[in-house]
Amino acid sequence: MPETAPVTVTFAGSGDAFGSGGRFQACIHLRHQALAAPVLLDCGATSLAALRRCGLDPGEIGAVLVSHLHGDHFGGLPFLILDGQFSRRTAPLTIAGPAGTRQRLTAAMECMFPGSSQVSRRFDLRVIELAPGQTANVAGITAEPWEASHPSGAPALILRLALGGKVIAYTGDTAWTPAIAAASRDADLLIAEAYYWDKPVPHHLRYADLTEHETEIPARRIVLTHMSADMLARDPHPAHEPARDGLTITV
Ligand SMILES: [Zn+2]
Ligand SMILES: [Zn+2]
Repeated sequence: MPETAPVTVTFAGSGDAFGSGGRFQACIHLRHQALAAPVLLDCGATSLAALRRCGLDPGEIGAVLVSHLHGDHFGGLPFLILDGQFSRRTAPLTIAGPAGTRQRLTAAMECMFPGSSQVSRRFDLRVIELAPGQTANVAGITAEPWEASHPSGAPALILRLALGGKVIAYTGDTAWTPAIAAASRDADLLIAEAYYWDKPVPHHLRYADLTEHETEIPARRIVLTHMSADMLARDPHPAHEPARDGLTITV
């Protein structure tokens, strides 16, 4: 059997909400030959700068999968959409996020650029709302959402994505929940929040949670993201690779 082509994963933004370590907010770029266009996993407010810094074209993005509706995960969408409008984009753009995404995206656009949610565009903007337990096809990716433990005014999601014969799981922001283990079963890659080393912070994943539950996490590879200054100063086990802005890996 021919080997399946790899998925190229670029961490355009690997930071937390507050610019710790000078990093951009969550923005993970996925490319695979079976996809018509690259896809983003989260699109924090700083994502257009993050993508361009990596030489990645925001106008090429076919879909954005949003883990939850906090600004450092979806706040870049108004800019991405307006950039498409001003650069005369014609290719459709799909936004897939939790229940409430349509309304929160409209509110964010109207807050930042009044009138921008209602203008007519040359490209189709589709919003898909994902529900835990319901698998959805998003621009060629099979997305399986799980319920995260992270209040954000809407349900937060852990995402399990199947594309090109590979499985990538992403915790988004969440306190430890068995759903992380379930979503990362047999995954080729788990992208895991590691906000703090071991300081208890509500609604977030610490590195200590990952090591404590290590035997329950069946993913073949774990990359850490969304790190605070505290976590960035630590030395995780070599089996847990820290992401950095601009890091590209193949899965
Ligand atoms: Zn959050
Ligand atoms: Zn966050």
